[in-house]
Amino acid sequence: MGLLQRVGLVFARKWVGGTTVEEAVKEAHRLNREGEKVIFNYLGEDLTDISKVEKNTGVYISLLEKIGREKAKANIAVKPTQLGLCISYKSFISNYEGIVKAASKHGIFVWLDMEDHQYINDTLTAYLATLKKYKNIGICIQSKLRRSYSDIKRLVPNGAVVRLVKGAYKNHGNLTFNSKEEVDKNYKKCMHYLFSHSKYFMIATHDDKLINQAIEFQSKFNSKMVFGMLKGIRPKLALQLVKEHHDVYIYVPFGEDWMEYSLRRLKEKEHSMLILRSIFQG
Ligand SMILES: Cc1cc2nc3c(=O)[nH]c(=O)nc-3n(C[C@H](O)[C@H](O)[C@H](O)COP(=O)(O)OP(=O)(O)OC[C@H]3O[C@@H](n4cnc5c(N)ncnc54)[C@H](O)[C@@H]3O)c2cc1C
Repeated sequence: MGLLQRVGLVFARKWVGGTTVEEAVKEAHRLNREGEKVIFNYLGEDLTDISKVEKNTGVYISLLEKIGREKAKANIAVKPTQLGLCISYKSFISNYEGIVKAASKHGIFVWLDMEDHQYINDTLTAYLATLKKYKNIGICIQSKLRRSYSDIKRLVPNGAVVRLVKGAYKNHGNLTFNSKEEVDKNYKKCMHYLFSHSKYFMIATHDDKLINQAIEFQSKFNSKMVFGMLKGIRPKLALQLVKEHHDVYIYVPFGEDWMEYSLRRLKEKEHSMLILRSIFQG
């Protein structure tokens, strides 16, 4: 790694957990000491090279073993297109199931990230098929998509564990809600369904209004809600929620591709705003 890259990594460490499994698990122990739990994502997406897909799968298996050995309070999140979905559904589901099986041996939970709209059907199909064999899995649902409320209504009665986000991908005409107001309104609607029908789920947002709404719902419903936030975006708020006795999971991306990841996220308008605010406000 050149000098410039090393300096860049020092800066990027606010949002990424390092480049290796060792560095990432060290970061998990640090966050655990502060009372937060972790969700690791090994950086990589849209992979069309089978050797890279195999490498990604292998890194997750080593990560699971290290988390298990060191008893870190950490789960993992995998992306369908890093496990082979751009190559074939068969490749994806076989790698996904292999990871879930390894995780279940260590009692570790595996989240399935949700990517762009063209992958949703395959992602849901793989999740529901795997849920018939393993219970240590959850799935991300994006409130930006018009279909999401009905997806949640289909998933939850089947025992799905949902992580609700707004959605990080571009608008797609009729498929998406295209204004912040609509996305937030749908988030609230989906969240209400989760509180009233699901036993366990994650509210993954940095938005004060939605976090306060979730806390209000929690006082009325009997379900177990946990919060999820991206590493470095609102660390003070995350710690405050821990102090108030909420479970908070910090999503920690790590891996050699940290530069690509950081640059891609900075190019996305909404993400760059989150990152800029996190530099100045913490
Ligand atoms: C745990 C986790 C997992 C995720 N997984 C996925 C996934 O699988 N697929 C996917 O598409 N997306 C995923 N995302 C990303 C998500 O979809 C959003 O793009 C991202 O979280 C930004 O949306 P937001 O809900 O935080 O709120 P935004 O609409 O971006 O707004 C944030 C609001 O929070 C407040 N705010 C933000 N930063 C600050 C600050 N520093 N100080 C004060 N106030 C602030 C402001 O009120 C602002 O309006 C994930 C996010 C999280 C947290």
